[in-house]
Amino acid sequence: MLVSAVFAFVVAAAPAPALLLPAQPVGEPIDCNGPVFKSQIYRDDVECREVERRKLSIQDQTVTLRILADDEEDAELPPEYREAAVEAIARAFGIVAGERKLNFHNVSVLPVEVYSQRREAKMSGVTYWRGKSECVIALTVVPASRFAPETNLAMFKFIVAHEAFHCVQSWNWSHQLLLESANWWKEGSADLVAMLAYPGTDAQMKVNLGHADIASAKAVTQMDYGNILFFHWLWAQSPSKVFDLIAAMPRDPANDTIEAQEAALRAFLPGDAPQQYASAYGGAKIFR
Ligand SMILES: [Zn+2]
Repeated sequence: MLVSAVFAFVVAAAPAPALLLPAQPVGEPIDCNGPVFKSQIYRDDVECREVERRKLSIQDQTVTLRILADDEEDAELPPEYREAAVEAIARAFGIVAGERKLNFHNVSVLPVEVYSQRREAKMSGVTYWRGKSECVIALTVVPASRFAPETNLAMFKFIVAHEAFHCVQSWNWSHQLLLESANWWKEGSADLVAMLAYPGTDAQMKVNLGHADIASAKAVTQMDYGNILFFHWLWAQSPSKVFDLIAAMPRDPANDTIEAQEAALRAFLPGDAPQQYASAYGGAKIFR
């Protein structure tokens, strides 16, 4: 559990609705030293260098996956971390593409802080997105000296797979994702996809343990990462329900409240869902 305490998963709010781009064919990645990229990551001082580029085929789409380095911060991923990032993104995309026809686009992985080992790990990701356009996953990567290299790498892969689903969210449900009150499903569903990509991680442990103390104390709309349990349950019923739930969430910025999220969730779920969920997880509750 100590490991999870040092994780931070954050999805950056999209800058402004005006920057949402219309649907477009997947094209070349944007210039990572240009103004569009810099404004997307809210940083002027990046000195971006492309380290490697891969093509990923998902469903009938081909997207470009770039691994970048920031020479301003001296941040460059070691080769095994580059490989791990590619694997985690491909797995996350593969899992959701196996269940639903979705839109994908290009992804750039930008390390913002990379150190060799310290005693405490510091690994986190932030996803910067602009609607149906290239997604940028910024990563802090500081492995812990007290963990085995495989453990550090496993933490990293989980984070990248989680962030990769934030990209998928932005390409498919950008209006729903814009709302601050959407945090409960943003994080819960991203942890689900990361856990499906890497079973056996900390999130899986939460599911195995029933995460009962958290899940029974709070409604799902009042939690974020704790919602791994709820989304695991929903996915087990049918993966489609996870995508349908996200699509059914509020899209109107004027309606950015937990109450609106909860009302949409009530309308989406069958009437007996709270009872089924409670009996599956020792009294866990869905609604407030
Ligand atoms: Zn997240």
